[in-house]
Amino acid sequence: MASIFSKIASGEIPSYKIAEDEKYFAFLDINPLVKGHTLVIPKEETDYIFDIDDDLLAGMMIFSKKIAKAIEKVIPCNRIGIAVLGLEVPHAHIHLVPINSEADISFSRPKLKLSEKEFEEIAKMIRVNLS
Ligand code: 5GP
Repeated sequence: MASIFSKIASGEIPSYKIAEDEKYFAFLDINPLVKGHTLVIPKEETDYIFDIDDDLLAGMMIFSKKIAKAIEKVIPCNRIGIAVLGLEVPHAHIHLVPINSEADISFSRPKLKLSEKEFEEIAKMIRVNLS
């Protein structure tokens, strides 16, 4: 059965999409730690990130870099923190989180509740800043 993230990448489940190419897909986390919190997945489904083939894994970081550079332009932050947990969804993904302090990327903190309009605006702003 396809993972929830495969269903998002295929469009079967809606998401606030940021970007995609033939191998990767980026979209806003639905329970963000901060505004701009984005997930990057490989379209090929693998649970554990360190089981991913070397080239696909390296490409995932390069794809993430492009997304991070766009997020930086939109969300005021010191830098984009990255995290990999995979404890909830068994489809490897990188969290890109705009941070100003260590606390901003603490997964035990309460998540933001954003409106559909806010998600849409953030996604649109990040998309237009992709180069
Ligand atoms: P992890 O597997 O890294 O521990 O956590 C999974 C992450 O995926 C969480 O931050 C959660 O908010 C996010 N997430 C889970 N289901 C969905 C979904 O259906 N759509 C989106 N956009 N994000 C999701």
